[in-house]
Amino acid sequence: MKATETCPKCQCRRLFVIEKVAQAAHDSINTIVAMSVTTLPVPSSQVGLEDDNSYRAAIGHFEAWVCSKCGYTEWYTKGAVPALEHHVAQRGRGVRLVDGGVAPYR
Ligand SMILES: [Zn+2]
Repeated sequence: MKATETCPKCQCRRLFVIEKVAQAAHDSINTIVAMSVTTLPVPSSQVGLEDDNSYRAAIGHFEAWVCSKCGYTEWYTKGAVPALEHHVAQRGRGVRLVDGGVAPYR
């Protein structure tokens, strides 16, 4: 849909593009935050703190293309591939890679 600017389900060409998919924050419905793709643990020592806590960094965001006629939606991940590669390498993080090769440049 993004490449052709045409809905693959109904051929409609009137599409909404949501640049950063957002949602209400957990602790306040009045706060809107970008939906992150994943998170990574950040030890407190890496953020200049001396406690033994670990923090979570929100990584990446989603772009969505939505057909105005049928609602078909395509999601695109932005800024999260290195974190996803890290999760795959660590195993057991709920992310797996199906590697059939990278598509040729268009
Ligand atoms: Zn459609």
